[in-house]
Amino acid sequence: MLHQALQFDACPSHCVCRYSVSAGINLVTFTVPKPSDASESIYERHCRWMRQAIALAAAAGQAGEVPVGAVLIGADNTLLATGENRRERDHDPTAHAEVVAIRQAGERLGTWRLQGCTLYVTLEPCPMCAGAIALARVEMLVYGADDPKAGAIRTVLNLPDSAASNHRLTVLSGILEADCRQQLQQWFAQRRSE
Ligand SMILES: [Zn+2]
Repeated sequence: MLHQALQFDACPSHCVCRYSVSAGINLVTFTVPKPSDASESIYERHCRWMRQAIALAAAAGQAGEVPVGAVLIGADNTLLATGENRRERDHDPTAHAEVVAIRQAGERLGTWRLQGCTLYVTLEPCPMCAGAIALARVEMLVYGADDPKAGAIRTVLNLPDSAASNHRLTVLSGILEADCRQQLQQWFAQRRSE
C-alpha cells in the first residue's frame, strides 16, 4: 500500500489542500511541512487551472445550470479542452462538465486515451464522471470541493480504488476548495430565494 499526501498550510485561499495517490480502498492523507519553492510553483499552477474551471462554472451558473466547470490539460501542460455543465441546455443527463471536456479532448487528439492528461474540476466527480475519467485513462484528477451527495472519488464512493477500476488515478483534492464550494452554495441560495 502506497500512500502519499501533502497539505499546503500556506495556501493563499485558506483552503485545505490534500494530495493522495490512490493505492487502496481507503485514501489516507497526512500533513507534511510547508512545501519548498518548487512545490509552491506546482501549487500555483494547479490554482491557475482551477481558476479557469471556476470561470467556466460561473458561465454555466449564469446560463441556469448547476455551476460546475472543468479543464483538461495535456501532458505538456497546455490547455486541451474545457467543459461546463450543459445538462439543461442540451437536455442531456450526461452533459456534465467532465464528460464535455473529455469528449472535446478525445476529438482534438483523435484518441479516447487521455494518458498523461490532468483533469481539473470544481466539484468532486459523480459516479458517471468518475467512470469516464477512469475509462479515458486520465492520469491525474484535481478537484475543488467534495460532493457529500454524489462524490464518487472518496466522499460517498471510492470508484478509482474499487475493484471495478483497473486504472490507477492520482487524485488531488481541495485546490481552491473554498471558492468552489461557495460558488455552488451561492448559486443554490440564489435559486431558493427566487
Ligand atoms: Zn458527473
